[in-house]
Amino acid sequence: MALDAFAREIGTRRRFRCLLWKFGSGPGPGRIHLVHREGEEEDGIPCGADSGEQIDRETAELWPFEHTAEHPEHRSYGHLAYRPMVTVPREEPT
Ligand SMILES: [Zn+2]
Repeated sequence: MALDAFAREIGTRRRFRCLLWKFGSGPGPGRIHLVHREGEEEDGIPCGADSGEQIDRETAELWPFEHTAEHPEHRSYGHLAYRPMVTVPREEPT
């Protein structure tokens, strides 16, 4: 029995095809880096300072040196990075 005839007999309304997908870099402005000060000061208030969003990782990672130079007791930082990603079928469906 042909697949189409079988589908009609059991009342199939939609047919799906399995695709293999890959996950990779997407289009867009590229990566964004932000380094921020972590922790609280002696008064319990977070410093809240950060490098601002940078497209260049090195620029973001140089900022803590400037901040620590101004505030020698501020030594804990976090680094956040954004990278646009997409899912793409390995073969486009026909
Ligand atoms: Zn600070």
